[in-house]
Amino acid sequence: MSGKPKSISHGTYGGYQAHRKRDEDACEACREALREYMRQRRRGSHERAMERRNSNISDKARRALVARHLDEYAKLRAEFDATIPYPERSEAVASS
Ligand SMILES: [Zn+2]
Repeated sequence: MSGKPKSISHGTYGGYQAHRKRDEDACEACREALREYMRQRRRGSHERAMERRNSNISDKARRALVARHLDEYAKLRAEFDATIPYPERSEAVASS
């Protein structure tokens, strides 16, 4: 069925969806856009998984380091506690 062609931006993922909404096969440009979209999504989730893995490793290493040097860690904490200023209280409390 060929209705009047409302504008589809071909070669985009949105274009692909527009084809599907009209219950028609997507053109080649739109199918390619869909494939690229899927590739990006997969790559995105792999990258997120890699970031999670790296940050887990960092956390683990930090905890192990602290466990090995507890005295030094406590000394550093005390030092920073003495030098780093406290944050301002929010306006709710400050103004009055
Ligand atoms: Zn198309």
